Amino acid sequence: MVDSIANSRTRDLDRLLLRSGHLVGPNFEPSPELRDYLQEDARVLVVGAGGLGCELLKDLALSGFKNLDVIDMDRIEVTNLNRQFLFRLEDVGKPKAEVAAKRVMERVSGVNIVSHFCRIEDKDIDFYNDFIIIALGLDSVEARSYINAVACSFLEYDENDRPKVETVKPMVDGGTEGFKGNARVILPGMTPCFECTIWLFPPQVKFPLCTLAETPRTAAHCIEYAHLIKWDEVNSGKAFDPDDPEHMQWVYKEALKRAELFGIPGVTYSLTQGVVKNIIPAIASTNAIISAACTLETLKIASGCSKTLSNYLTYNGVEGLHTKVTELDKEKDCLVCGPGVLIELDTSCTLQKLIELLAEHPKLQLSKASVTYQGKSLYMQAPPVLEEMTRSNLSKPLFELMERTYSGTVHVSGTSIKNNKKTSSLRKLRVAYKRVDGMTEMDTAGGA
Ligand SMILES: [Zn+2]
Repeated sequence: MVDSIANSRTRDLDRLLLRSGHLVGPNFEPSPELRDYLQEDARVLVVGAGGLGCELLKDLALSGFKNLDVIDMDRIEVTNLNRQFLFRLEDVGKPKAEVAAKRVMERVSGVNIVSHFCRIEDKDIDFYNDFIIIALGLDSVEARSYINAVACSFLEYDENDRPKVETVKPMVDGGTEGFKGNARVILPGMTPCFECTIWLFPPQVKFPLCTLAETPRTAAHCIEYAHLIKWDEVNSGKAFDPDDPEHMQWVYKEALKRAELFGIPGVTYSLTQGVVKNIIPAIASTNAIISAACTLETLKIASGCSKTLSNYLTYNGVEGLHTKVTELDKEKDCLVCGPGVLIELDTSCTLQKLIELLAEHPKLQLSKASVTYQGKSLYMQAPPVLEEMTRSNLSKPLFELMERTYSGTVHVSGTSIKNNKKTSSLRKLRVAYKRVDGMTEMDTAGGA
């Protein structure tokens, strides 16, 4: 009896994994061992336990993955409950990652989910290397950029600048916005990484100020007038805080006055919040569709049972249903998934000097950098105890710290400024030392 239940649980998986077919991936070899590997050994990380993350965890568990981890820094809020279906009213205030893991384990027997309630930056880079695939269910561009850089940092290139296949850390990324969504497969070095296609996230379109000031036509125009123009006029110097209910109430009342003046209907408090905080309502069914696509890709990458998506799927359910797959191109000189930024140094250059160079480097502009070589921390800015432990390295030549290797890959992490915003970034450097005769080991012209 128990056996037949167990069999029915893997029946569909068996059809994919125990026999061959016309659409299988290049190295696919059907076998029960493959199924066992998927269930017993393959570890997948889900980043984010929100609308998409909840779906991903559930879908992956039901698809036969038994070793999952989930990482999320947020706590459950009442407004999450309509779509983040693993959460109940009594969970409000608890960490999303912990509750999501617990609920899926309760419902899907035999699944082990380890939860991590912390910021993604709080984990060592090595933490992310333990997973065969990283599945992203995030709504923030910054967080995606960070994980992308982490996964790309594992990538190594051979002497002909070809990616070494065994160092490729696959990512599956999903994103939704209202009735629209996308799913993509990122194989660093082989398909475009997140940074290669950062243009997919254009800066937020704002209404022209003259429309707001002179010819408002919609409720949103009235709200933005109160938010962007009237606030500064009346509260000169005081910064608007979108999380302060009094500020929001003020904007709402001003928007209402303006709407009455121009005879425009539709200004409500919740619309005010939506416009000011740029909230696009999340739709549960969009999350479900995108998560299903991401889970299928994860299964395909992990088992090779079918060719993977190549490489970007868009879904649009605004009017009817439209979906298509586009093959995006890699950025040739991508700072993140490319072979790394070449830095030429004298053998006498100290670690301190390198950190200063990184801040001034036009492409990198990386301040407060921590430096790692072959998994070993050479200098850590934080936490204080590690800073103290590694501080004595600052005055040493980097060449000595790299055991007198003339060329090698060094990982640096710190903060950089992007669109006037401070973001955590992680970069790969190809450090090459000038030999006495002035030639560098990596004789690549045009470096830094
Ligand atoms: Zn890239």
